[in-house]
Amino acid sequence: MGPELVDRFGRVVRKLRISVTDRCNFRCQYCMPSENVRWLPRSEILTFEEIARLARVAVGLGVQRVRLTGGEPLARPEMEVLVEQLAAIEGLRDLSMTTNGYFLPEKAEALRRAGLGSLNISLDSLRRDRFAELTRRDTFERVLEGIRAALAAGFPVKINTVLMRGINEDEVTDFIEWGRQMGVRVRFIEFMPLDGDRRWSRERVVTADEILAEAAKLGPVESVEADPHQPARAYRVAGVEFGIIASVSRPFCHQCDRIRLTADGKIRNCLFALEETDLRGPLRSGADDEALAAVMRGAVWSKWEGHLINRQDFRQPERAMYAIGG
Ligand code: SF4
Repeated sequence: MGPELVDRFGRVVRKLRISVTDRCNFRCQYCMPSENVRWLPRSEILTFEEIARLARVAVGLGVQRVRLTGGEPLARPEMEVLVEQLAAIEGLRDLSMTTNGYFLPEKAEALRRAGLGSLNISLDSLRRDRFAELTRRDTFERVLEGIRAALAAGFPVKINTVLMRGINEDEVTDFIEWGRQMGVRVRFIEFMPLDGDRRWSRERVVTADEILAEAAKLGPVESVEADPHQPARAYRVAGVEFGIIASVSRPFCHQCDRIRLTADGKIRNCLFALEETDLRGPLRSGADDEALAAVMRGAVWSKWEGHLINRQDFRQPERAMYAIGG
């Protein structure tokens, strides 16, 4: 195995998504169970120092971009401290975060000063009632305030919008128009089988074809050149760019260049992986960086060709989205 993180299909890992906590203050239907959420014990959660060390090892193996996720990453206190540690890693080209936006009115400026590069903010409806239905929280205005605070702090902002049939698929054109007004790019995301209540079904997925048909109500839709390794495919309509992440109907696994680190120190070499590789154990029992690197290489080498969602034998992973970090 060479110096980099390469899998059996020749894909090279350049991106690491780090879940810093499984905790969240929202209960989004496509992610969290409606009740009886079992949080990871604090003792099992990686410390900032442990996260920074594993990120340094990964960057040493060719990782160039790190995205911080959760649960809700800002539900963990003092995240600006971790951001500062990660931003200082030599060779790390991009440090970003995915958040539900709730804590941004207080946190945006400090995160920007600490070295965070960009933000993806989740917003699944432009209607307060639907927002409350989808997230099981009445915090619509607060999230809009968070988006404004992020823009005021100078962050490039993208919006993640998960579409669910029968709830918000009629808001595609509204979101595109709203994105134009706010100066943010909206990415529509197909509902994935990672929900805590395990009620995902193909019928509830609003597919890329349907999203494009909706967008075409605004005019001719054209495809826009974009980084093939990015999960979002880019389009433009009426002068506005938007994205679609179509994991279910248009899988992009052949271009996959990312792995995930869970809050309790497991490597997931695929979002839908059924197995994980433990890093926290070796880390806490004194393994040196070379030994940790070898564990990472092994985890990546064993990565499958792609998710099996469109196959009869697909099995939803044990971990739900909130404990993986998307
Ligand atoms: S489903 Fe797995 S292999 Fe496919 S793009 Fe996502 S993480 Fe990569």
